[in-house]
Amino acid sequence: MKALVTDPNEIQECYALLATIHDPEIPVLSILDLGIVRNIELLHSLQTEGHIRVTITATYTGCPAMDTIAALIRMELLKKGYKTIEIISAIAPAWTTDWMSQEGKEKLKAYGIAPPDKRFAIPVDGIECPQCGSSNTRLLSEFGSTACKSLLQCNNCAEPFDYFKCH
Ligand SMILES: [Zn+2]
Repeated sequence: MKALVTDPNEIQECYALLATIHDPEIPVLSILDLGIVRNIELLHSLQTEGHIRVTITATYTGCPAMDTIAALIRMELLKKGYKTIEIISAIAPAWTTDWMSQEGKEKLKAYGIAPPDKRFAIPVDGIECPQCGSSNTRLLSEFGSTACKSLLQCNNCAEPFDYFKCH
């Protein structure tokens, strides 16, 4: 097998570039915050053929935003000068909540979406309200504004809010 041309600086630059891409469904989070980008491999640096491979994993199977995300990644890498861009959607290992950065969870909460909580893999009443912090909440619908979210309402401050589902 041919050894990969690895330039750590160039790979870091690519991570920084992908950190500017935001999830279309949750604009406050970058695709790195979400843990969608699993790996970036530089097969040939920009100095040579400019060949890069990005592996992404959907937060859940069949997430409709993934095509958009793949297109956004391709566009940014093209702008940077890569000629061959491979985007691989890896199904396994499946995305888990652990892949979301702590910073990502904080940003989600500040945005008004309850971050995923492993205790509530299946959304139920009692998920903490991101507005007032009360656990006196009730589940309105398993599906919220998008399929990856559930809709709840707080009994304390009366605000409805989305809960990002766990996997
Ligand atoms: Zn509340």
